[in-house]
Amino acid sequence: MVFSYFLMAAAYYGSSYGTRGIFSYFDWTWILILAGLALSLLASAFMKSAVARYSNVTAASGLTGKDTACIILRAANVRDVGIGSVQGKLTDHYDPSSKTVGLAEESYGRTSLAAVGIAAHECGHAIQDAESYTPLKVRSAIVPAVNIGSQLSWPIFIVGLIFSFRPLLTAGIILYSLAVLFQLVTLPVEINASSRGLKMLRSTGILRNEEISGARKVLTAAAMTYVAALASSALQLIRMLILAGGNRRD
Ligand SMILES: [Zn+2]
Repeated sequence: MVFSYFLMAAAYYGSSYGTRGIFSYFDWTWILILAGLALSLLASAFMKSAVARYSNVTAASGLTGKDTACIILRAANVRDVGIGSVQGKLTDHYDPSSKTVGLAEESYGRTSLAAVGIAAHECGHAIQDAESYTPLKVRSAIVPAVNIGSQLSWPIFIVGLIFSFRPLLTAGIILYSLAVLFQLVTLPVEINASSRGLKMLRSTGILRNEEISGARKVLTAAAMTYVAALASSALQLIRMLILAGGNRRD
């Protein structure tokens, strides 16, 4: 990803090099990309440290992530969702197409507050799916457009910059906006899944009141990574708008 930015920047600078002094090529808008990158790294480090911390705190119930998922899905009357273990770290997810809660080995068989909290969050997604929660449906519906948009937006935009061709710049920006929209819709989906999960942990008695706050801290830290992803793609979009604006004045 970063490499492709460099290629595009090289193409952009290369196209105008020689017509102006070298000092006018300092593109301050890179600061926006670096800020987004810093935010993402910070959020990811914050999440990893919260997970590490609460992976060492055992739930008094002695229930594993898998047990947690079984109890929550049963309590929520969600009968058609399977629970499986997946390889890798922090690979926990809910797959609506196969109707499976996939828990990383760390969450599946462990009895920590982190494992239980993460399992509850993924069950939150399964419950959203069962209830046809609107933001989840919107997110699934725009995925194909987002995939195409995020692949084509920068190439189209860069060609637009090189030839100062406004329709291509606009097309690139619109396509990139889809990716930002996706991050925006992801936010309520994730926050809602956590709040559903925490509610179930409380109502089923899987965690004690004083344990809930540990699980909440893990899930809040995870939500921050989605906030950071939204912020960095919004910064990228702002950068495109600035570059397009500067290009027009030329
Ligand atoms: Zn989630």
